[in-house]
Amino acid sequence: MPTTTDLESGYLLPADPTTRSIALDLYESVADAPIVSPHGHVSPALIIDDEPFSDPTDLLITHDHYVTRMLHSAGYDLADLGVGRGASADPRAVWTILAENWRRFAGTASGYWLTREFDTLFGITEELSAETADATYDRIAAALLEPDFRPRALFDRFRIDVLATTDDPLDDLAGHASLAADHSFRGRVLPTFRPDAYLDPEATGFTERVERLLMATAQETTFTGYLAALAERREYFVERGAVSADHGVIEPFTADLELGDAERLFQGALQGVLDADEARLFRGHMLLQMAGMSVDDGLVMTVHPGVRRNHHTATFDRSGADTGHDLPVRTEFTENLRPLLQRYGTAKDFHLVLFAVDETVYSREVAPLAGFYPSVYIGAPWWFLDAPDAILRWRSAITESAGFYRSSGFIDDTRAYCSIPARHDTARRVDSSFLARLVREGRVSMPTAERIAHDLVDTIPREVFKL
Ligand SMILES: [Zn+2]
Repeated sequence: MPTTTDLESGYLLPADPTTRSIALDLYESVADAPIVSPHGHVSPALIIDDEPFSDPTDLLITHDHYVTRMLHSAGYDLADLGVGRGASADPRAVWTILAENWRRFAGTASGYWLTREFDTLFGITEELSAETADATYDRIAAALLEPDFRPRALFDRFRIDVLATTDDPLDDLAGHASLAADHSFRGRVLPTFRPDAYLDPEATGFTERVERLLMATAQETTFTGYLAALAERREYFVERGAVSADHGVIEPFTADLELGDAERLFQGALQGVLDADEARLFRGHMLLQMAGMSVDDGLVMTVHPGVRRNHHTATFDRSGADTGHDLPVRTEFTENLRPLLQRYGTAKDFHLVLFAVDETVYSREVAPLAGFYPSVYIGAPWWFLDAPDAILRWRSAITESAGFYRSSGFIDDTRAYCSIPARHDTARRVDSSFLARLVREGRVSMPTAERIAHDLVDTIPREVFKL
């Protein structure tokens, strides 16, 4: 049987033997460090309920739109992969589709992560294929029946120190509270305040959602009442351990409005009468207001812009959201964020982490911003860019103008629980490779490289996310 990867040969490390040996030293010094995961989309219920995973397909395929979108591009119907509203497919049949198409994942981020998961979690080193489909399925299915493969046991085995979830502002966070009170569980699972749907007049159900928010906080239907309601819910999250507020916007546009103008737009938004420009202005003003609240309550502000959601309407109508056709668009930070940074760019203890799926912005905008503003941090490569070569390109693009200490530390940002260790391991190997090259070229000393390798997985994410 061919093996998928030979770890001894220096998986993801430089090909040149001297550089590889420096990289291996650096990597080995951080390989087993605990995982700090301050932003992601694992459901809190997974950890709270601690139920066994149902089958290999549910664990590794159905909920991973990186995997299903690739199979969709090869001509498979999403419903036949068990993806989308009401879809149900035989798990073994879906697994067989993945196995028969495994060559399509060669060289892709998903291919790397799955290969690592097969190997490190299930001891599977033979490549997936039509011939190995049944045996690999059975092996994983058998493992999932073991107590060692329950979500909480895996949490320990993955050495996760902190894991943040992403939550609706009106969530009561009861699950987080019960986990915090459960002394048999030692990990930290933190909520994250994610208010997008309450800030965008063009979001489906905006008016009803804001009305619920005002009702829940007993605030008046005024712009000031709305701000107070949001501040109150943020405080609720802070009291329950949240360290950040996340903003998924199409563009990082910000606007500083007079109260009267904001009030007029707010009332128009509730009545659903804003035109596109007014809705944009309102969103931009709210992003600035959220920064102001972060200055007050200390929540780290993370911004994830530049993704056109649900690109294919027919697929969205049939299968729903998060089904693989969210696509990157060009993003502009420097002008868009200027109103926000004029107000808060130098505010004490304000942290603004900027993520991107448009890699042209790293050297042109994000690193230069982070190289001046003490509040701005460069978010780790996100979504389509959290892959080995893209992470190397990112380091090359940002380091010369901002160094290592203005970056966020690695962020897995995933829903795929079992891919968390594989993703962090990828970042550790790639960062070690990048540092090894600087050492080999005489640009950075080995002791400094060792210090940086450690800080990247520990000190830096803890500082940036105030952990
Ligand atoms: Zn996210």
